[in-house]
Amino acid sequence: MSDPIDRKGLKSRFWERKSLDQMSPKEWEALCDGCGKCCLNKLEDEDTGEVALTRVACRLFDDTTCRCAQYDIRHQFVPECIVLKPSNLDTHAYWMPETCAYRLLWQGKPLPEWHPLITGDPESVHAAGVSMRLRTVPEFEIDQDDWEDHIIEEPI
Ligand code: SF4
Ligand code: SF4
Repeated sequence: MSDPIDRKGLKSRFWERKSLDQMSPKEWEALCDGCGKCCLNKLEDEDTGEVALTRVACRLFDDTTCRCAQYDIRHQFVPECIVLKPSNLDTHAYWMPETCAYRLLWQGKPLPEWHPLITGDPESVHAAGVSMRLRTVPEFEIDQDDWEDHIIEEPI
C-alpha cells in the first residue's frame, strides 16, 4: 500500500538533529507512524491519572486502513479531535500511546526500528504488530458504560 503520509525528500534522520518545535510542517506530519492508537477511546482514572486504552475506536476510524476516514473534514464530525502541535504536546503527551513517535521524541527517546521513517515502508508498523489494524470495535456499537470491558494492553 502506498504511504498516505508524504515522507519523500526529507533529510535523513532529521528527528535526531532538530527539536520538535524546529521541524517543518512536513517533518512534523512524517513523524506519525500510522499506528492508529491515538484514535482509540481511553479511560482515565480520576484518582491516579492513569490512562487505559480501549479497543473501542473513534467513529471515523477505519481499521482496515488504520486511518481516519475523513481526516481533512473530521472536525465537522468529531470536534474534540486533537490537532497535535509542538505547542500542545506538553498537555497531551501523557495520554498518547507509549510507542507514539511524538511522545517518544518528547520524552527524549529514539524512534523504534520499525518506524516507517527508518524502514522506508509504511507497512512496517503493521508488520511489527504495534498498530490497530483490524483490532478495533466501533464506538457506536459499544455503550460507553461497557468500554472498560474492552481495555487492552497497548500493542508494543
Ligand atoms: S499514536 Fe502517534 S504515531 Fe500512532 S497514529 Fe497517533 S499520532 Fe500517529
Ligand atoms: S476524528 Fe479521525 S483522527 Fe480524530 S480520533 Fe477520530 S478517527 Fe482519529
